[in-house]
Amino acid sequence: MASKLTRVIALFYTMQTEDIAKLQTALVNQMTKAWRRGIEDEEKQFGSQMAKASPPRGRDLEEMKRLAKRDAESIAKTFNRNVENHLERLYIGNPKGNRHYYIRQMELWIQQRNAWKNPQIALMTEGNIRGYARSRFWEENNVGKTFRMYPLTATCKVCTQIIAKGNLTRKFIENHPAPIHIGCIHEYRVIENADISCRRMWVGD
Ligand SMILES: [Zn+2]
Repeated sequence: MASKLTRVIALFYTMQTEDIAKLQTALVNQMTKAWRRGIEDEEKQFGSQMAKASPPRGRDLEEMKRLAKRDAESIAKTFNRNVENHLERLYIGNPKGNRHYYIRQMELWIQQRNAWKNPQIALMTEGNIRGYARSRFWEENNVGKTFRMYPLTATCKVCTQIIAKGNLTRKFIENHPAPIHIGCIHEYRVIENADISCRRMWVGD
């Protein structure tokens, strides 16, 4: 980093240990909601809306905490690197800039970055955790042998090819977990009928 001032500013804007811990907590909360949506969606796929999904517990809660920690660390690492790069650019653009210059520019940059980055992170989290919850539903209810990818339209080449394949095995979808790419809304659905009576359907409990 180029000057004493930019080092101080970097320390101010980069995510530190406590910021990462807060982000991890926020992600676990978001993941819990996505988990319930994933299970309830799957319940609907099998023609029931009777039971509210239970929050994750036991090994599922542990897995969510692990994923939240991993994601929080990765998000912070990228963010911090971007902060330092942006400060470097600001310094090169105006080597005589004072702290007001940096604060004004950094606030603007963070605002613009959040506008596209936060929804992107939220969408990835939602997709990953719903996928996890749904596969736990299949496992516990002993369903999920044949799948198809939905919706049936796609722009990305990989998704287009998967849709064209039609029926997919569990092994295939495990090797090609959805979402496939950033911004991907595709998901796999079980297409076989299953004999699960609503009363003994596992919904996270
Ligand atoms: Zn897709």
